[in-house]
Amino acid sequence: MARDCFYITTPIYYVNAVPHIGNAYTTVLCDVLARYHRQRGEDVIFATGTDENALKVREVAAANNQDTQAFVDSMEPLFKEQWESLEIAYDDYIRTTERRHIELVQRVFTKLLEQDDIYLGSYEGWYCVSDETFFTPSEVTDETCPNPECRRKLTWVKEENYFFRLSRYQDRLLEHMTQNPGWLRPDYRANEVIAFTKAGLKDQSVSRINNGWGIPVPGDEKHVIYVWFDALLNYLTVAGYLADEDKFRRTWPPSVQMMGKDIFVRFHCTLWPAMLMALGVELPEMLVGHGFWTVDGDKISKSRGNVVYAKELVAELAGLSGASPRVASDAIRYFLLREVPFGLDGDFSKSALVGRFNSDLANDLGNLLNRTISMLHRYFGGEVPPVRTIDEALRDAAARAAAEVDDALAGIQFSRALEAIWGLVSAGNRYVEQSAPWTLHREGKETELADVLYNALETARIVTAMVNPFMPTSALEMWRQLGLDGDPGSTPWSDAVKFGALKPGTKAGSADPVFPRIDTRRTAKSEPVTPPVKSHKQEKPVIQFDEFKKLDIRIAKIIAAEKIEGADKLLKLSVDVGEDDPRTVVAGIAQFYGPDELTGRRIVLLANLAPAKIRGVESQGMLLAADVDGRAILLQPDPAQDTPAGATVR
Ligand SMILES: [Zn+2]
Repeated sequence: MARDCFYITTPIYYVNAVPHIGNAYTTVLCDVLARYHRQRGEDVIFATGTDENALKVREVAAANNQDTQAFVDSMEPLFKEQWESLEIAYDDYIRTTERRHIELVQRVFTKLLEQDDIYLGSYEGWYCVSDETFFTPSEVTDETCPNPECRRKLTWVKEENYFFRLSRYQDRLLEHMTQNPGWLRPDYRANEVIAFTKAGLKDQSVSRINNGWGIPVPGDEKHVIYVWFDALLNYLTVAGYLADEDKFRRTWPPSVQMMGKDIFVRFHCTLWPAMLMALGVELPEMLVGHGFWTVDGDKISKSRGNVVYAKELVAELAGLSGASPRVASDAIRYFLLREVPFGLDGDFSKSALVGRFNSDLANDLGNLLNRTISMLHRYFGGEVPPVRTIDEALRDAAARAAAEVDDALAGIQFSRALEAIWGLVSAGNRYVEQSAPWTLHREGKETELADVLYNALETARIVTAMVNPFMPTSALEMWRQLGLDGDPGSTPWSDAVKFGALKPGTKAGSADPVFPRIDTRRTAKSEPVTPPVKSHKQEKPVIQFDEFKKLDIRIAKIIAAEKIEGADKLLKLSVDVGEDDPRTVVAGIAQFYGPDELTGRRIVLLANLAPAKIRGVESQGMLLAADVDGRAILLQPDPAQDTPAGATVR
């Protein structure tokens, strides 16, 4: 057991096409786990790479009038560029045309041939060149590939072939599958593998006729080694099998092997472990098959024109938000892992990405950090005050969230881990709203104010440490704003998540929003509609219920508040009224409420008042407040109840 190393692999990708967002997903999942385990102080080897020996590659190169080796060499930088744009920090990038791999594959082939796990026979049957897969007559109905994603015309091949005795390992495989629950994940996919294995495993052809590309069968160069047999062995090459005994002992077996569901059952859960059994090598600890992504509800395909590449998407999101490309990349990583429960298929759309960016990152996470640091500057000159009382509820919530993240990531449940972290974000935001530090400040309660800010900052620090594996650049920026040394990734996980570790006297950096909110409103008409309503007391006529019914009064949640330049009395509010996009409302309450104490607060809004342009800002509604001798007092729903934004008032 290689307990001293967390070894994680992506499948190696076919080199003939640049990876799109669907392939990138696999790599991001692995990168998050690798970063998490590094942060826990473990040795990690995270490997990815390219599968370059397929016959298809030769065809693609020929179609481009390129030498095959020159073609695969030209693809490597394009892969690395995509991974770079998603902050993928792999430890090894393996190409199957490398010497270290070719030597290993030939030695493994020879060993299995010598021990009669590989034999020379003859093959007759269907073959899909595109998938590099053999099919039995029973799987084929109409001479087209049974793979629903492919459906290309099959070739009937009849040739001398080397075979791997897969059938020999059927019983041992079944035994391993049934006696090791959790070996294959998710569970429902394990059942599929067991059914496939029970139906009977046939010996697998492991060679093809040599057409000048691929790894030759040692001693019989009429044949090349079947690309899947070759590709699966990359995991052993990376670990130093047959080459570096010491490294192999430290590294093997893989802790997690991640892949898409299409290559899970047939290749990674049956052929691969059977090959390892034949070699007398320990099996991987966990094999994980994730779901697929569609884009706007459609399968990702070139012909549909909906292929999304990470690098372009990063640039687009950075442009939309004004965030740095690295932060935009973080947001995409976050979206991919948060949007679907792990294992299921997910649908990608730019509007869903922008929605999560604004609500989860700019609002929830951004608020916790930004508002707290701003108040630290305003009330304590930016220096963390001494704490007298740790808030126990918050401390317990942080401990619970950390335990939940550990448990979720051990079980490969990414969205559950993120939900746990965002649960702590909400608890932190709620704590700030309920403790109302602005009131404590106004009332001169300095000790209480210091406690509240300390507890809020400490929550922000722990959240930052926990989001680091998911969003490394943003976490580092948040870490700096909190005034902390080093980076969250190199702070041991157990220390980072311990409540109370923040040192009084720490000097915070400036509070700049890490995730600038994306303005999604359609460009509004710029003509002034009606002048601002001036409020004054007057005798009002009696109205009928029908007239009252015309008023659209709703609960709204303030997402952001800022002063309007040159207007002492006005605040510009961004409010959630239960619609797709937030609205902007201009309110004359700046003398009574500061922007900090408004964010996150629920108010009552007249939502169907004709829009009015005030100081150049279009106000799309009016907040309701009591007027007590000219002083505005905001109306708000019962604080003991959780009233959702958009709830109707009647
Ligand atoms: Zn096919």
